[in-house]
Amino acid sequence: MVSFEQARRLVEQHAAGVCRGEVETVDLLAGLGRVLAEGVVADRDFPPFDRATRDGYAVRAADLAKLPARLEVVGEVKAGDWPEPGACAVGRGQAVGIMTGAPLPAGADAVVMVEHTSLGDAPAGKSAAELVEVHRSVRQGENFVPRGAEARAGQLLLDRGRRLDHAGIAIAASAGKSRVQVFRKPRVAVLSTGDEVVEIDATPGPAQIRNSNFYSLAAQVQNAGGEAVRLPIAPDQRERLRASIEQALIEQALIEEGLACDLLLLTGGVSMGKYDLVEQVLGELKAEFYFTGAEIQPGRPVVFGSCGAGAPARADSEAAAGTRARAPAPHKKYFFGLPGNPVSTMVTFELFARPMIEALAGMTPQRLIFLRARLKSEIRTKTGLKKFLPAILSGEFENAEVELARWQGSGDIATLARANCYVVIPPDRERIEAGEWVSLMMRCGADLGG
Ligand code: AMP
Ligand code: MG
Repeated sequence: MVSFEQARRLVEQHAAGVCRGEVETVDLLAGLGRVLAEGVVADRDFPPFDRATRDGYAVRAADLAKLPARLEVVGEVKAGDWPEPGACAVGRGQAVGIMTGAPLPAGADAVVMVEHTSLGDAPAGKSAAELVEVHRSVRQGENFVPRGAEARAGQLLLDRGRRLDHAGIAIAASAGKSRVQVFRKPRVAVLSTGDEVVEIDATPGPAQIRNSNFYSLAAQVQNAGGEAVRLPIAPDQRERLRASIEQALIEQALIEEGLACDLLLLTGGVSMGKYDLVEQVLGELKAEFYFTGAEIQPGRPVVFGSCGAGAPARADSEAAAGTRARAPAPHKKYFFGLPGNPVSTMVTFELFARPMIEALAGMTPQRLIFLRARLKSEIRTKTGLKKFLPAILSGEFENAEVELARWQGSGDIATLARANCYVVIPPDRERIEAGEWVSLMMRCGADLGG
């Protein structure tokens, strides 16, 4: 048994040594949520010209020392125009009308906002549009972004290993990347275990339970950048369970077809019950365990290990205290044994399996960051375990409040589906008062409601 933090570090250390998959090229939008296998480089300066950020007049800041200043309007540049220096330039005492997104004409060193100007009285022989009165001064460099200030041509805009979100898509689009190279999604085999578990399209018998864990895990795997593969449900019988696990780990036929899975997730059968055989069977298969149990609730029996490298098992304490994990041997396959209670399955996935999938997907695993919110009503718990309790975050703007969802324990998916986050309670806290700030872990994609 290791602490939550030790368990997390162990996963991170192993994740740091895994190999990325092959590379494929996809259309830019199909790259959303995928991990870049190439760096994206600026093909030109960003911005490619001195870009006005306001509608107004391109001016020489020195001309506005005395206010109001009257300037002669000698032209206009709108977005998309190119002001040829010979034809459109700002001389002393002059201004050029300019729109947001347009290039600054030669001679100008600032833009004054149109709100700070008025059209002056036209002297004889001039039209009103040819004269502007400016009521505020500007600093040199104000209201435009100099060419190349955001990025220089050739500069790296997005690193290899970065997961593409809408902002990444935007910058790749700006650099003209209509197709991007991404890593293949890792294939994650999910083996649900339990005599009572049946597939969701079967009619469950009176004591049977639908295999919801495959679906929650598949959704979480997808969200972490992988692809889930559903294996047939394994019963709680040593021989049959062993055959299923062996097949999932070795998958000779699939290896030959290049379809072998990169990670195995097992659910159920890791607790202390007479028919919880997963750990025992993995032991028989010479698995190396990095931890068997973490001081968390829900999810205490969670198991992390690997099979296939033939390495001797290490004690939890040694592994936890140990330095960097060894790089994996070629056919080493990591597995997580997640407890079968649906909420435990989801929480332990988020805490431990996610960083491994992110690494297999080619990313640097994301740090786990807890947010803070004010507690709405008092919490009393037992000490000893770090708790991740389903909770409801509400409120608006800066007034986020959180309260525990009233639940029936870690099998209660109905309550979990109504909750949107977990309150994180340190192992030494017994009582937390209403109004205290508490940590919380958001549930990915949770509905924050109205
Ligand atoms: P176990 O971890 O095998 O002791 O299972 C704990 C609880 O989770 C039991 O109530 C199981 O029926 C339930 N459970 C196990 N596997 C699944 C599954 N795949 N889908 C939904 N519930 C499950
Ligand atoms: Mg079971």
